[in-house]
Amino acid sequence: MNADETAHLTLAMADSGDRFDLSSVKGVKVDKHSTGGVGDKTTLIVAPVVAACGIPFAKMSGRGLGHTGGTIDKLESIPGFTTELTTAQFLENVNNIGVSIAGQTGNIAPADKKLYSLRDVTATVNCLPLIASSIMSKKIAGGADKILLDVKTGSGSFMRTMEESIALAKEMVRLGEDLGKETIAMVTDMEQPLGNAVGNSIEVIEAIESLKGRGPQDLKNICINIAVSIVIMALGCREIEAKSMVLNALSDKKALLKFKELITAQGGDPGIIDDYSLFKQPVITYNYHAPFGGYINSMAADKIGAAAMLLGAGRDKKEDRIDSSAGIYLRKKTGDPVEKDEIIASFYTDKKDVIDQVVEMFGLAVSYTNQAQGPRPMILAKVDKNGSILCT
Ligand code: URA
Repeated sequence: MNADETAHLTLAMADSGDRFDLSSVKGVKVDKHSTGGVGDKTTLIVAPVVAACGIPFAKMSGRGLGHTGGTIDKLESIPGFTTELTTAQFLENVNNIGVSIAGQTGNIAPADKKLYSLRDVTATVNCLPLIASSIMSKKIAGGADKILLDVKTGSGSFMRTMEESIALAKEMVRLGEDLGKETIAMVTDMEQPLGNAVGNSIEVIEAIESLKGRGPQDLKNICINIAVSIVIMALGCREIEAKSMVLNALSDKKALLKFKELITAQGGDPGIIDDYSLFKQPVITYNYHAPFGGYINSMAADKIGAAAMLLGAGRDKKEDRIDSSAGIYLRKKTGDPVEKDEIIASFYTDKKDVIDQVVEMFGLAVSYTNQAQGPRPMILAKVDKNGSILCT
């Protein structure tokens, strides 16, 4: 499809159901969307940071089909937390505390669901204009004023090369702008999992640790970049001001407090912030030891994601049940030095019978080298209506 045809399709899908009305929320509403990856818990950090900066964050999110749950499943690992809110409750929470994250309510872009099923049986799932229009139709119908896209690239993403990822980012930015919403995109690394935790409750714990200032560097880097971009879009301020607001929200723990308020407002137990033993605990913890010494050369996100899913962290079919405590915690990441026999990952599960297979899968996901490597860049490109800039 050409640009015009893709924009018409996007608009028709956006208008095939209801448009979510966020007009009762004061201020500029910026929607954040990630194309998805392994260990991607950025929304859990960005939402409270942005809200702590005084910018409303109203996020409707889907459940994950795949390696681990989506944002909704991750949040539901918090005892008592509900994401099934009425539209009135959702809007009330955003107006009262500045943030709410709920499962998709209402009838948003139903044509996309039908077309997606057709794509599944016509070998057009990977067609770029259809991917771009599918994602953007839901963003347009979602009611935000502006859109920030995090397009993942690499083995753990459905866009595996930089060329494809930049092409998708450009197409979605163009669609957003053509349909009247300021849209920017970042292309970020998904060659290895983001952060150290891959699962559901362990990702929530990693997000809380990040809000306490103790999170992994790669995750912190991406979250700060996303939050700064959202603050700039919402307030129209300079980057230096936005960065100082975001860093202050983290350092004075306002963002951590906001996350606690979000948990309380949605029925969850805020005690989990200080006591991680309140999460469901896995029956089995298995430590994986490095078969070689040297440096970690690569950790394939897709293979680690598939191993986490086998442990119970994800779902293959919509009806599958997720085990909130299942997952993989990486004690080493690409580039880290490692001794032979050192523990490089821990597996958590209730299923004893999958351990052997997961050990084999994980072994195939990790490669080693004798050579030290420099740090990996995380933000690889930025795209706005004027084009793309490579960041490396
Ligand atoms: N996500 C969507 O919503 N649609 C696609 O086509 C691909 C990813």
